[in-house]
Amino acid sequence: MARVYNFSAGPSCLPEAVLEKAAAEMLDYEGSGQSVMEMSHRSKVYESIIGGAEALLREVMNIPENYKVLFLQGGASSQFAMIPLNLMNGSGKADFVITGQWANKAYQEAARYGEAKAVASSKDKTFSYIPKLDSATFTPDADYFHICMNNTIYGTKFSTLPETGDVPLVADISSCVLSEPVDVSKFGMLYAGAQKNMSCAGLTVVIVREDLLGKARDITPTMFDYKIHADNGSMYNTPPCYAIYIAKLVLEWVKEQGGLSAMKKINEDKAAVLYNFLDSSKMFSATVEGCDRSLMNVPFVTGNDELDAKFVKEATAAGFINLKGHRSVGGMRASIYNAMPAEGVSKLVEFMTAFEAANS
Ligand SMILES: *Cc1c(COP(=O)(O)O)cnc(C)c1O
Repeated sequence: MARVYNFSAGPSCLPEAVLEKAAAEMLDYEGSGQSVMEMSHRSKVYESIIGGAEALLREVMNIPENYKVLFLQGGASSQFAMIPLNLMNGSGKADFVITGQWANKAYQEAARYGEAKAVASSKDKTFSYIPKLDSATFTPDADYFHICMNNTIYGTKFSTLPETGDVPLVADISSCVLSEPVDVSKFGMLYAGAQKNMSCAGLTVVIVREDLLGKARDITPTMFDYKIHADNGSMYNTPPCYAIYIAKLVLEWVKEQGGLSAMKKINEDKAAVLYNFLDSSKMFSATVEGCDRSLMNVPFVTGNDELDAKFVKEATAAGFINLKGHRSVGGMRASIYNAMPAEGVSKLVEFMTAFEAANS
């Protein structure tokens, strides 16, 4: 069996150990005589899966008691509407830092429900940096302050959090969840589509402080009300059962790696191999500089569209797939999530070194 090195931004590669375990348990999950896909979500056996996934997530992310964990559907994109519907109901105002397409979508969707303010943007340079923030420009009575912590398309990451005082900080952590420790207590809410670093597609995880529940607007659809899901243990309706099971396996794997501090070290070492190469190469260069660089998504270019296309084509043929950059940025992007082995990155660098030698 030949597995490729998959640098997709999402859905993305999963740890092989997780895939093997899922395969081994496919026909008969722990003596139940059925696969996880087939069982009732109300069964005892499934209760242990969803309960186990939540307990592991709480342990691995060190989630305080006064936060609820919700297993939802609809992707991170549904959260762009769910957040204002649930939280933008005091002053009706919210602040946004526009660090890319996802951050902008969260902003635009909120603007349909209230007064959304963009306090800073890095659009002027194709979102290749995290803008400096001035808290004097923040809305003091905002219902929430939204950031996209890791910008999947552009390869930037917030290295310091905005100081929002009493205004709840809300962060999209779709592409950096489980990649390093986060202090959950600094946030009102965190959310992530699971298909990048936590599971397969279909699951969206929301971590929300309890005091923010129960404030939804009257018009909020029942299925969009966090409190409904919190009160029903994410079982108001059928949850994304299989994706929650895969998340549980991934969390077990993360724990085996040593938890999030260990993941951070592994990810820093892995990213350094690629960034160091890009910084020394005469052909390839990273599009993001310094402390704004993401550990998870690494965009790079040659500066020549034809050469970029040649590189992507030859890399694909050599088993390094999904390296084409997002259509809005061009060039290349290597997404190196938790599940990408260090060997995948060092082999990619070897391939790039050889490509550079052959084409210059
Ligand atoms: C992929 C991504 C999204 C969109 O996620 P969906 O689950 O497809 O809706 C939103 N935000 C970030 C940061 C992402 O990486």
